Amino acid sequence: MKAVVAEDIGQFSVQDVQLDAPKKGEVRVKMVATGICRSDWSVISGTIPTEFPIVIGHEGAGIVVEVGSDIDSLAPGDHVILSFVPECGECFFCNNSQAYLCASKNETFGYMLDGTSRLHRGDEELRVMTSLGCMAEECVAPAISCVKIDDDIPLNSAALIGCGVMTGVGAALNAADVQPGTTVVVFGCGGIGLSAIQGARIAGAANVIAVDILPKKLEVAKTFGATHCCTLDGAQETILELTENRGADYCFEAVGNTELMQAAEMCTRAGGICTVIGVGKMDEQFVLNPFMLPIQAKVVQGTMYGNCNPSTDFPKLLGYYRSGELDLDGMITKTYSIDEVEQAFADLNAGSNARGVIVFD
Ligand SMILES: [Zn+2]
Ligand SMILES: [Zn+2]
Repeated sequence: MKAVVAEDIGQFSVQDVQLDAPKKGEVRVKMVATGICRSDWSVISGTIPTEFPIVIGHEGAGIVVEVGSDIDSLAPGDHVILSFVPECGECFFCNNSQAYLCASKNETFGYMLDGTSRLHRGDEELRVMTSLGCMAEECVAPAISCVKIDDDIPLNSAALIGCGVMTGVGAALNAADVQPGTTVVVFGCGGIGLSAIQGARIAGAANVIAVDILPKKLEVAKTFGATHCCTLDGAQETILELTENRGADYCFEAVGNTELMQAAEMCTRAGGICTVIGVGKMDEQFVLNPFMLPIQAKVVQGTMYGNCNPSTDFPKLLGYYRSGELDLDGMITKTYSIDEVEQAFADLNAGSNARGVIVFD
C-alpha cells in the first residue's frame, strides 16, 4: 500500500510499504481522509524529534476493515475518527477527565502501544507517528484511538476533528472556557486559529479579533466568525478600543511563535486568560514578568489537543456540526491525492489552505 514516509530531516515521499494485521487491542482502518497538519511537517522538519524512517499522519478518519483479538467495541464497517492520543479510560489522567494526557501512549515516539510497529518496508521496520501513521491508504491503530461515529457524517470533514479542529475549538470551549459576551483574540489564523475562532463564536463571545500577517487569512477568518481583523501592529489598539482599555478577556496563540505568545500575554486583561496552543521550539523561552503576573492575576496556560476526552468531545463537536454551529466542510480549502503530498505540504508552508486534506479512493 502507499504511505507517506519521512526518510530523514526534510525528506519525504510516497512509498510502497507493508502493513501487518492488527494485534490484540488494535484495528485496521481503511483511510478515507487524512488532514495535512503542521505537526506532520514538524516531524519532517525535525521540530518534533524522532528517528527515521517514519510513516506520518495523525489527523484522519476512515472505515474499520479488520479487528484484532479482544475487540468488542468496534467491528468491520464502523466509521471512525482517529485520535492521536489514545484514551485508555483507566489511567490517572483518564480518571481525572484529562484523557488528552492519557498515560497509555508509548513513551518512545513512533511505535504502537506495545513498543513495536506494524509497518515495514521489506525487512526494515518503519516507525509510525502517534501510533497511527494514517497518511497512508490503511493504518493499524489502537482501538482506544478510534472513536466510532455515525455513518452519515462525511468522513472528509470528520477527519479534521482528529487534530486541528478539536485542538482549536477545545482550546476555546474546554481550556479557556470562553464565556458569552466576552472579547477574544486569536493570534494566527491557520487551521488551529480558525478553529479557535469558531470555538469562541460557539461560546457566544461578543468580539472575536483575528490577528495574522497575511491579509487573505484575515478575510478567511471573517467567514468563520471573526468580528474584527488586524495585523500584529494594529492588534493592541483594536483590543484596547473594544475593551475600555482593559485588554482582552481571552487571548489564544495558535502558531507556536514566542513573539506572538508574548503579545498574547500582553494583550490579556488583568484577571484574563492567555492560552498557548501553538507548539514552539524546545530551546526557546518566553518571558513572564514576576511582578506583573501576580499583581494582574493573569492565567497563562498551555493546552494540549483542546483538553479533550476524545470519546465524549468528538461526538460533542459532531453535534455542533450537525446543528450548523461548527463549519467543518468550509475548513477544507483543497483536497489532494496521496501522490500530490509534496504539493500539499508546499501549500501548508505557503499558508494557502485553512486545511488541506488527502482523500483516498
Ligand atoms: Zn488513560
Ligand atoms: Zn495535528
